[in-house]
Amino acid sequence: MQDTCLREINYLRVSVTDRCNMRCVYCMPPQGVKHVSHEDILRNEEMARLVRAGSMAGIKKVRITGGEPLVRKGLVGLVESISLIPEIDDIALTTNGVLLPAAGKELKTAGLRRVNISLDTLDPELFRFITRKGNFKEVWRGIEVALELGLHPVKLNTVVMKGFNDGEIKDLAALTMKYPLHVRFIELMPVGASDSWTAGRHIPASEIRQSIELELGGLINAHRPCGNGPARYYRLPGSQGTIGFISAVSDHFCKNCNRLRLTAEGMIRPCLYSGKEIDARTPLRKGAGEAELAGLFRQAVSVKPERHDIDAGWQDEKRIMSQIGG
Ligand code: SAM
Ligand code: SF4
Repeated sequence: MQDTCLREINYLRVSVTDRCNMRCVYCMPPQGVKHVSHEDILRNEEMARLVRAGSMAGIKKVRITGGEPLVRKGLVGLVESISLIPEIDDIALTTNGVLLPAAGKELKTAGLRRVNISLDTLDPELFRFITRKGNFKEVWRGIEVALELGLHPVKLNTVVMKGFNDGEIKDLAALTMKYPLHVRFIELMPVGASDSWTAGRHIPASEIRQSIELELGGLINAHRPCGNGPARYYRLPGSQGTIGFISAVSDHFCKNCNRLRLTAEGMIRPCLYSGKEIDARTPLRKGAGEAELAGLFRQAVSVKPERHDIDAGWQDEKRIMSQIGG
C-alpha cells in the first residue's frame, strides 16, 4: 500500500492486550490503566482475521506488542494463525521478557521469528523502581532464553531518562561486546498519562551517542540487524551486537514510516501520535467480508499523516502507550 507521501506501508503492529505485569514509570500510572472490558477486546480468531485482511491489502510484517503481550491467553495460537498467512513473512514480538522463559519455546515453534525485550537498567534496585513491579533477574533470564532459542536478532529497548539510567549508558552499550545483542537507546517520549513524569527527563539521541563515544570510543556505521524499525545502527569495533538510536523526539523518522497499528479493541491507527482511528471491530462483528476489511486498512493508509507533531504534545487524550501498542 502506498500512502499520499509515497511511503510503502507493509508493517502492522498488533497490540494484543492493554494489560501488563509491570508499571513502568514512563508508561503507566502506579495503579495501572482502566482496562477495556473483555467483550471489547478482540478474540484471537478476530485478530487473526484482521491480520489476514491487512495482508490482502499489503501487510507483510507483523509485530505483536501491548501492554505486555505475553500476559494474553492463547498468544501461541494467535502467533500460529498469523504465521499460516502466506503473505506474512515476518512475525516479531516486543515484550518485557518476564514470561519469555515459560513461553519462548512454544512461541518459536508457532512461528515467532524474533524478539525485542525492554531493559532500561542493569541495576536490580533501579529496575524495581522503574518498573514498579519487575524483577531484574527474571528479565535477564528472559534475554538469555531468547538468545538460546535463537530468536535473532535479539534487540534490547532501553529508554534513557535523565537522573535515572543515564549513568549506565556505557554499561548497556558494552553488552554488545559480550553478547550478540542489539541495544537500542530510545528517547523518552511525552505520552499520555506519563506526560508529567517525562518532563525534564528527556535526553536527545545525539547526547546518548556522545556519552558512549566518550567512554567506549568511536562508533562505526553498522547494517540494520533485520527488521524495518526507525533506529539508526552503529557498532563498537570488535562487538558481537550493534547499538541503535531511536530519536522519535529530537529527529523524527516519519518520512520512512511504514507502519499501521491495530489496537486490542480492533481500531486501526495510522500513526501512534494522532488520535485518528478506524473502527474495524464493528464491521468485523457485523460479518464484513475480507475484501471489506482489507478496505479499512487501505482507508487507514489514505489518512496517514505526513508526520507527527510530538512537540505539540500527545494528541490523543483517551489513550496511553500501553493501550495503543508501543
Ligand atoms: N510491554 C512490552 C515492553 O515493555 O516491551 C511491550 C509494550 S511497551 C509499551 C513497548 C515499548 O514502548 C517498550 O520498549 C517501552 O520501553 C516503550 N515505551 C513506553 N512508554 C514510553 C515512553 N514514554 N517513551 C519512550 N518509550 C516508551
Ligand atoms: Fe508494561 Fe511495557 Fe508499559 Fe512497562 S513499558 S508498563 S512493561 S507495557
